[in-house]
Formats: sequence, C-alpha cells, structure tokens
Amino acid sequence: MDLKRIERAIVEILIAIGEDPTREGLKQTPRRIARLYKEIFSGINTDPKKVMKVYRVKNQEEMIIIKDIPFYSMCEHHLLPFFGKAHIVYIPKKNRITGFSNLVQVVETLARRPQIQERLTSQIADLIMARLQPMGLLVVIEAEQLCLSMTGVKKPGHLTVTSAIRGVMRHPATRNEALSLLKKERKD
Ligand code: ZN
Repeated sequence: MDLKRIERAIVEILIAIGEDPTREGLKQTPRRIARLYKEIFSGINTDPKKVMKVYRVKNQEEMIIIKDIPFYSMCEHHLLPFFGKAHIVYIPKKNRITGFSNLVQVVETLARRPQIQERLTSQIADLIMARLQPMGLLVVIEAEQLCLSMTGVKKPGHLTVTSAIRGVMRHPATRNEALSLLKKERKD
C-alpha cells in the first residue's frame, strides 16, 4: 500500500473542504489516516481461501450455528464505516466442518476492503461453499451503515439486514428451521 500517496491525498481533501492542513490538530492527520487505512484495508491483498481451514469431525448432518461474529468494514460508495454482526448456519457434508476463529478470520478478511454489505454477505457464502462444500448454508449480516445514519437517511442504530442462501437452505422448511434457531440463540 502506498502510504505516502494516501497522505498526499488527505492533505488535498483537507484543503478542498476549506481546512488548513498545517494547523496543530490536523498536522498528523494524513499520517494517522494512512496508517489506519493500512490496517482497515489489509484484506485487499489477503486471500480469504487461505485463512479458512477444514476439519473432519463426526457429525450427523446437523445444523451448525455460529452467531454474532463482529465485523467492521468500509462502504465503498462513501468510505464510511458499516459494522455489525455476521451469523452463519450450515449443514456439513461428509463431516467437514470449520472452526469459529476461522470463520471470524474469513469475515474479517473480506470486511477489510472497500465493500458493500450485500457483496460481503455473498462473498462469505461463496467462500464457505467453495472451501467447505456444505449441504446448505445461510449467512445473515446485520449492520449499521454510517453513511445512512450520518446523513439522516436512516435513524442511527437502524440495522440493515442482508442474507445469502445456498444449497439445501433454499428449501423453505430447512431455511425456517435455521432462522428460528438463530432467533432462539439470539434471545440468550
Ligand atoms: Zn455508503
């Protein structure tokens, strides 16, 4: 990542909005933002396939629920944060499962790049389908989009919900079971 270039761009933005980039409070801002971007966009050159490990554990093709995976991402339309929680439900095939920390890393890697919530949701689903090949998969993301909250389009705290459905989760009965399990878990 070209940190010097980010710094120069931030100086330009500060001048363009009518600020003085040399005043005390702003002097270090371009450098701070460049270092911050290095971290929050670190997913751009990371292959999420490599962070996801597959294990074999005896399983009766029962649903596995992983809920409340926290994430922070940046909306690619405004470069403002959207953040919230991802929930994943899958039905393993041939005892192939993955660990909680693996899924956390998958979500984090895909979130740390300019994103939109819908694509983040489907990329998580596609990656799990490709690596784990489960019978069925449901990914739900609940997030607050600061670009909507800050401009008054949506009330602060309003959550946008997106979902991706794959495999046998397309059957309404299976999907409803997954959704009701998620709801039940969330009441705890
Ligand atoms: Zn936005």
